Amino acid sequence: MLDTMTMYRDLGISKEVYEFGKEVEASLLDRFADIDRVAEYNQLKVVHAMQEARVSEGCFNYASGYGYNDMGRDTLEEVYAKTFHTEAALVRPQITCGTHALALALSANLRPGDELLSPVGKPYDTLEEVIGIRESKGSLAEYGVTYKQVDLLEDGTFDYENIRKAINEKTKLVTIQRSKGYQTRPSFSVSQIGELIAFVKEIKPDVICMVDNCYGEFVETIEPSDVGADMIVGSLIKNPGGGLAPIGGYIAGTESCIENCAYRLTSPGLGKEVGASLGVMQSFYQGFFLSPTVVAGALKGAIFAANIYEKLGFPVIPNGTESRHDIIQAVTLGSAEGVIAFCKGIQAAAPVDSYVSPEPWAMPGYDSDVIMAAGAFVQGSSIELSADGPIKPPYAVYFQGGLTWAHAKFGILRSLEELVRKGLVTLP
Ligand SMILES: *Cc1c(COP(=O)(O)O)cnc(C)c1O
Repeated sequence: MLDTMTMYRDLGISKEVYEFGKEVEASLLDRFADIDRVAEYNQLKVVHAMQEARVSEGCFNYASGYGYNDMGRDTLEEVYAKTFHTEAALVRPQITCGTHALALALSANLRPGDELLSPVGKPYDTLEEVIGIRESKGSLAEYGVTYKQVDLLEDGTFDYENIRKAINEKTKLVTIQRSKGYQTRPSFSVSQIGELIAFVKEIKPDVICMVDNCYGEFVETIEPSDVGADMIVGSLIKNPGGGLAPIGGYIAGTESCIENCAYRLTSPGLGKEVGASLGVMQSFYQGFFLSPTVVAGALKGAIFAANIYEKLGFPVIPNGTESRHDIIQAVTLGSAEGVIAFCKGIQAAAPVDSYVSPEPWAMPGYDSDVIMAAGAFVQGSSIELSADGPIKPPYAVYFQGGLTWAHAKFGILRSLEELVRKGLVTLP
């Protein structure tokens, strides 16, 4: 007999916390089965694309220098395009992160005098400087690209009337962020995004619709590119890297949009033809192959956390029963001590740096101290189990990732253990 409870005890989980977790998990089996069905479908989708693109061992070879005829790189881009049902894709280690991929997609497809519209409210923090909402060197604003924003209605739905008014002869590109990121609005389902794109295209058919797909890949069986998006954009140290990609970003979309992106990433005249893959290809392929099941594990973790903390009386977004459109879970702990204990628990459950104890500190770009927990194989990787929270009201932590469900579960139980030990919660 395997004595899992003894194993948990050796890792610092008390019997009470273990039993409580077991009870919550038992109530989630139907939802977990649904998640497994989505993962199964997406796994097949990825394998199908890999077979069609004739991925071979040679694709994992090291390429250096200019990277002319880099087969691994070119074939991988075909795999992404086939998986996301787009004409083309750009998937590169030279795209350093999600923000870079988004900045690239925007700057490559906008020209001076064009206007960018966000019909879903404020974009992700780091994009404020890319766009020039916050003044910044090299922003789109500096290049004469203007920006309009239409906020969501109070109930989190699209303000169609004002979106219609905001679209004008200058509107060239519409940016739609799928995940709420670190805001409290709802995340959008792919079908909601499809409705918004159809609405925009009816008013102005030639407008480019871009979706910030960060944290959303493989959560559903379709992606925004299946419902009319001209470009979808994301980071490889989130979902599609499957935890294995050590760096990178992707843009998948129409031939003309991707061509613009390639010329902007490298140089006019060179485009996709250069950019050596430098030996990271195996991790890109293998990570993409694993991504559907890794995302499933992270989703189970998010739902488990929501139900654990909801049962203990803490506000959680999304709530315990809502359907999921990304892998982020927010838990409002209501006190600085709660946020700190939660993050210390996540850190203590990590495979790497479990013995260090995170502390809140002042980080550039934030208006309060922030605490971050991450014991990751890849620095800053948020498909790996990670959590962070600003030390300010309402004292919420944002939790995401987990390369496996078992590890996500352990992390959540360990965070709860920390709160119990500090006397910040009492179990029912
Ligand atoms: C993470 C994220 C980004 C930025 O990605 P980085 O890799 O952190 O630069 C942009 N948009 C959303 C919605 C994200 O979640």
